[in-house]
Amino acid sequence: MKPKYLFDNLDTLTPTLKGAFSFFIFLDYDGTLVPIAPSPKEALPKRKVFNTLHKLTSCPHIKASIVSGRKVEDLKKILPLKNVFYVGVHGLEVTPQEDHTVKIYDTKGLKKIIQRLKKKTDAMIEGNKGFLVEDKEYALALHFRLVADKLASKVVSKFIDSAWRYVKSGILDICIGKKVVEIRPGGVSKGAAVELLINKFGKESFPIYIGDDTTDEDAFRFLSESGLTILVTEKLRKTSARYYLKNADEVLRFLNFLSTLKTCGRR
Ligand SMILES: [Mg+2]
Repeated sequence: MKPKYLFDNLDTLTPTLKGAFSFFIFLDYDGTLVPIAPSPKEALPKRKVFNTLHKLTSCPHIKASIVSGRKVEDLKKILPLKNVFYVGVHGLEVTPQEDHTVKIYDTKGLKKIIQRLKKKTDAMIEGNKGFLVEDKEYALALHFRLVADKLASKVVSKFIDSAWRYVKSGILDICIGKKVVEIRPGGVSKGAAVELLINKFGKESFPIYIGDDTTDEDAFRFLSESGLTILVTEKLRKTSARYYLKNADEVLRFLNFLSTLKTCGRR
């Protein structure tokens, strides 16, 4: 499906948005709230991100969730917010209440497998400074934002091979994102986490999901009939999202618009 530019269609959408009793807004972090940086450590939120999210979450009829591939622990450090549901490691970790992270999948035995794969990966990239291995305890990401394409694809295929037997048996999944490839628990997805949060905390809310990556597509599919789905992208690509925005600044502009909708919470 070809997405439509959100700001060209806002007039058509506004009655639906105004008619909603409440919103449940799901936001990816990297590439959605902040631009993609050379390394994950450099992708820090600016003051305007805090201001916008604070405005959103102070409205009693808006629920917000940050849905990321990063660990909840790390997300909370870089983006500490009150009244926000954090979803980490692509849906493996869900924080339904403050300071209370739940792993919604059985992770028994997974830690050891990930440790073993991390050792192998460290050996693969030895001497190549551009790679970055991110150990997420139950998932392992190999970032290659600073590596030449040829070398990156060689190492990535080795990385995938090393996990292949677990992928075949359904224990792990391979997920390819923007300049990152990730090994994560099988069956885990952002879509499944969104479903869980909606069923538990937001059945009456109108869901809105904004994300930029292939890992967000599960959530777009899950919400295709029931919510507003927005892909963040400079270049149009195939997606299950109905609309698109071009960058993180436009996402903030839209979020500010949502928080000013006067009918928020009123019938
Ligand atoms: Mg992203």
